[in-house]
Amino acid sequence: MAQAYQSPISPGRSWYEDTAGERPRYLALDGSTSCDVAIVGGGFTGLSAAVHLAKAGTDVVVIDGCRFGDGASGRNGGQLGTGQRASADELEAEIGYERSRLLHDLAEEAKAHLLDFAQTNNIEIDFRPGHINTIHRKRFEPDYRAWVETMAERYDYPHLRWMDAAETADRLGSTLYHGGVRDAGTGHIHPFKLLIGTARVAAASGARLHEETPATSITSEGGKVRIETPRGKITADKVLIATNAYVGGLEPVTASHIMPIGSFIGATPPLGDDSPVLPGWESVSDSRFVVRYFRKSPDGRLLFGGREIYSPGEPKAMHEAIRRQIAEVYPQLADVQLTHAWGGYVGITLPRKPFVREVMPNVMSVGGYSGHGVMLSNFAGRLYAEAVTGNRDRLRYFSELNVPPFPGGARFRSVLLFLALNWYALRDRL
Ligand SMILES: Cc1cc2nc3c(=O)[nH]c(=O)nc-3n(C[C@H](O)[C@H](O)[C@H](O)COP(=O)(O)OP(=O)(O)OC[C@H]3O[C@@H](n4cnc5c(N)ncnc54)[C@H](O)[C@@H]3O)c2cc1C
Repeated sequence: MAQAYQSPISPGRSWYEDTAGERPRYLALDGSTSCDVAIVGGGFTGLSAAVHLAKAGTDVVVIDGCRFGDGASGRNGGQLGTGQRASADELEAEIGYERSRLLHDLAEEAKAHLLDFAQTNNIEIDFRPGHINTIHRKRFEPDYRAWVETMAERYDYPHLRWMDAAETADRLGSTLYHGGVRDAGTGHIHPFKLLIGTARVAAASGARLHEETPATSITSEGGKVRIETPRGKITADKVLIATNAYVGGLEPVTASHIMPIGSFIGATPPLGDDSPVLPGWESVSDSRFVVRYFRKSPDGRLLFGGREIYSPGEPKAMHEAIRRQIAEVYPQLADVQLTHAWGGYVGITLPRKPFVREVMPNVMSVGGYSGHGVMLSNFAGRLYAEAVTGNRDRLRYFSELNVPPFPGGARFRSVLLFLALNWYALRDRL
């Protein structure tokens, strides 16, 4: 039997890869070419931008160093969430109510856009409604209750409801948490099905797609941008860097603003119809800084994600660490054998706001959704296309956000991050 494909840049083979259906191959770029817009990175950001650019008649080329979806977009928790990653309170304190409201409304549009895009293009994404934000410390209750009120009264978002510990326990099938907020206005999806479908729509709309084509350098000179790849050069009027956490050494400004953090997910075997786990099929994320997030797949598996400091290179370590976290929430599953365990890199920024910036003339970099990118990355791709085709207003709401670089430079920031994550992981236990 042929060996199953393994992403070269993210650990483990995902349950999504085994259930997404056919994954078309797009041939590597062979020879030099030119285009209006070249996109580096074939995740949600890049492919969504390609769809909307190609539909507007732009000649667009997308390259990915690996296969589309090998980064975060094909391998994430599938939770859409609501609003921005930074809370409305945090945003208001910094940019005022009007701007914060605008970002909330954009996020709502992003959610609707994702679901509408999938439906219009006949992409089955296994959407299930409902999300629960749980608190792992009783002291968070007032903040969560206030959030429900703020959203309903000042952001016209009436879908949140506070739940006490008993109702939370019933809905989760776990007594670990002290309460939570149920969000009836969002839900969760099979991200890899959306990714594959988006690539198909991009290709059908005329975008030229190439996998296994790494950009080795990008230079901007005399109004043109040049991208070097192993077997050809691309000359473009504009370039979108959509490499997010996987930017590596390609472009230093992006690399200094977006930090990769490993996140890991495990899938159990189907739990059966009589399982008390998540009888309402909501997705869940908890109040830890190092968030635990989980949900059930359509065939009843628990897909459980979190992060611990360990080497993702060893599959056994990944299985064990995820199993330990599952057992904290669901002690009855302490001995469950995971069928899959995999990971990927989330692109975070220091203030947990998206990073959208012109990093060289005619070269935009877009990413850093800080764990909130399933809906935002798809929408940011569309906003980039909007900006290229004439309306720069909406992308500007993101590019004007203050996102400073991480301290420490390329050399020391991973060390600082390691220390910071250990500190936060410790604080989560207090
Ligand atoms: C385990 C995990 C769980 C997550 N869970 C959630 C969740 O539940 N909800 C949520 O909202 N968000 C979640 N996220 C975050 C979300 O997946 C991302 O924000 C989103 O997918 C980012 O999409 P992207 O297109 O910007 O980047 P990616 O999908 O990471 O794509 C970047 C692409 O760039 C390519 N690339 C890199 N360098 C080069 C180069 N030099 N040349 C060519 N190509 C290159 C890579 O191969 C990759 O395919 C999660 C992420 C992970 C890893």
